[in-house]
Amino acid sequence: MMAVQDFTKARERMVKEQLMPRGICDPGVLAAMGKVPRHLFVEEALWGDAYSDYPLPIGERQTISQPYIVALMTQALELTGKEKILEIGTGSGYQTAVLAELSAKVFSIERIPALVSRARKLLDQLHYHNVQLKVFDGTLGWPEEAPFDGIIVTAAAPKIPAPYIQQLAPQGRLVIPVGDRYSQTLLRITKGPEGLVEEDLCGARFVSLIGEHGWED
Ligand code: SAM
Repeated sequence: MMAVQDFTKARERMVKEQLMPRGICDPGVLAAMGKVPRHLFVEEALWGDAYSDYPLPIGERQTISQPYIVALMTQALELTGKEKILEIGTGSGYQTAVLAELSAKVFSIERIPALVSRARKLLDQLHYHNVQLKVFDGTLGWPEEAPFDGIIVTAAAPKIPAPYIQQLAPQGRLVIPVGDRYSQTLLRITKGPEGLVEEDLCGARFVSLIGEHGWED
């Protein structure tokens, strides 16, 4: 049985050994990754692996992403604390908690009801009151709450769903893995005054984004 101090140490090691050497340098992101208790977002049998450098299963054939990828995607949003963020793919709620630490309000959509129930309970227990969750096809975005300063998609799309571009605020950033079912490129799209600016962040391998503007189930 690991004690609270062991998890705190494991988080510190994760930040120092996995994140900082690979270019995660935003102090807010490093602090949030050092604070959010990632082990609580996986089943107890996996707590010993919660701060390791790989994704873990969360049930329903879905995964919680590798810590480095969570940090990289969050850093790419360049958050200042004032933003309204849309997340697609709540999953365990871990990335949602990291975003809630660093922005004003997080709207997160998940298509699997059981994952939303579990995430909602845990995020409430951890006092993340600036988060709203819903069960929906996230490829349609959340038009009633648009525009968003940042949109982060934690499942892989065959192409960029048009609603995300429509729902992005001017100067807003969209971070999304795009490619085939097995390998993708993690992209950052910025909605600049002269149009969309696209940057490649890295190669990635995510579970599929299923829905009207994504893959078929
Ligand atoms: N961010 C999550 C975390 O921290 O645990 C990991 C998310 S997991 C890699 C991707 C999630 O996207 C899965 O839970 C999956 O059910 C969800 N998903 C796939 N297609 C979706 C869609 N159209 N709308 C909402 N969620 C979707």
